[in-house]
Amino acid sequence: MKYVSTRGEIPKLDFKDTVFEGLAEDGGLIVPERIPKLSEKEIEELRNLNYQELALRIFKYYVSDIEEKDLKELIERAYKNFRAKEVTPVVKAGDIYILELFHGPTWAFKDIALQFLGVLFEKLLLDTGKKINILGATSGDTGSAAIYGVKGKKNIAIFILHPYKRVSEIQALMMTTVIDPHVYNIAIEGTFDDCQAMVKAIFMDLEFKRRYRLTTVNSINWARIMSQMVYYFWAYFRVSEKEKCESVRISVPTGNFGDIFAGYLARKMLGENKIERLILATNENDILCRFVNNGDYSVREVKPTISPSMDIQVASNFERYLYYFYGEDPKKTKEIMERFSKERAIKFTEEEIKRVQKDFLSASINQEKTLETIREFYQETGYILDPHSAVGVKAGLKFKDKYPLICLATAHPAKFPETVSQALGFPIKLPEEIEKLYHLSQRFEILPAEIEKVKAFISKRAI
Ligand SMILES: *Cc1c(COP(=O)(O)O)cnc(C)c1O
Repeated sequence: MKYVSTRGEIPKLDFKDTVFEGLAEDGGLIVPERIPKLSEKEIEELRNLNYQELALRIFKYYVSDIEEKDLKELIERAYKNFRAKEVTPVVKAGDIYILELFHGPTWAFKDIALQFLGVLFEKLLLDTGKKINILGATSGDTGSAAIYGVKGKKNIAIFILHPYKRVSEIQALMMTTVIDPHVYNIAIEGTFDDCQAMVKAIFMDLEFKRRYRLTTVNSINWARIMSQMVYYFWAYFRVSEKEKCESVRISVPTGNFGDIFAGYLARKMLGENKIERLILATNENDILCRFVNNGDYSVREVKPTISPSMDIQVASNFERYLYYFYGEDPKKTKEIMERFSKERAIKFTEEEIKRVQKDFLSASINQEKTLETIREFYQETGYILDPHSAVGVKAGLKFKDKYPLICLATAHPAKFPETVSQALGFPIKLPEEIEKLYHLSQRFEILPAEIEKVKAFISKRAI
């Protein structure tokens, strides 16, 4: 499989070339040259595989430059520390299914991609003798997942900026209690936007970037999307078997359009008769919901909510969807994205909206409804949802009809204990592994929001 840019102006890449890339050099995103549509026979051959075997079979469609036995070993290593043997178990709660994606080391779904990315980075670096320094900014979940993904890996150091005292206590602890010679947590005296702006500015200093071989692990990384496709297949097989049915609907709480885009690709491979539609669930930051329901993709202010990992306005993977939506036309994609970057809005026609709605249903769930859903769902089923998963469940239930409904649970409720306890009216019990974090020693550096200070810190410690 070769890879191209959504804007069509770079030479074709191999899979390995995509692994350390963020944006393509023409400003587009990297996508596979084609998405294979599987035959019924191919699909049935995948049905009874375990998670790791399934991942290997799916990855093989997209990775032709890593040997199968190596790929198999990477997958085994990536998922061996998950607390659930099935990696992403599907459980029934009331009359819907919950796909639990939070059994990795940082209790949220980003582990599924970043545990794989960590071992993949290390292998490619060891093969070539190269070293990299990862630099990123986090408002919570991604930073800890990235740190756990690369800690202890050879030839990699990681620098993660977070806003000092402005991430949740558990999120901070999950980062700062990782004591590893090549893991650096930098607590910035400022906001998440300050952190992100500094990271962007540092990457723009091409000389600095090259000298320290700086790399990102952001949500546009193709290998991350690819690893997330696996659990859509997994959930489809578990539920279609139990319900003895052909079609399901899957509800996905969405921020950057990464997770749901992986679902969109899985649907392309499986066929629209298998995943009837995806339900795109947003919180009050509803640009994607407005897109699906009214064709209005226009940027508004980011509003902080109780599902903070979805507090996003410009969804970084959206361009990939547009590329497929317009029949893999890079000229059209480029033209629209360039217009969007000037006008901060795209308006879609009635005909286009109808077409989008063949792929997605969508609802935006406000914070009051989210809290109410956590409470009511617990009362009805005994299952405790985290605020992100609750957004997905509520949106899913709005569209519940004859199709079995699968809702993605993207974080464990113990990651957001204050909100969940408030919703339930009693304090939730923290798992022992999370409780333990409060007693571990922490290591982090506090720096002012000044680029030169951050650069100096990195240059002293980069490998
Ligand atoms: C990142 C995140 C999301 C949103 O996922 P996207 O891929 O950005 O759409 C949802 N829930 C949780 C808990 C997350 O960490």
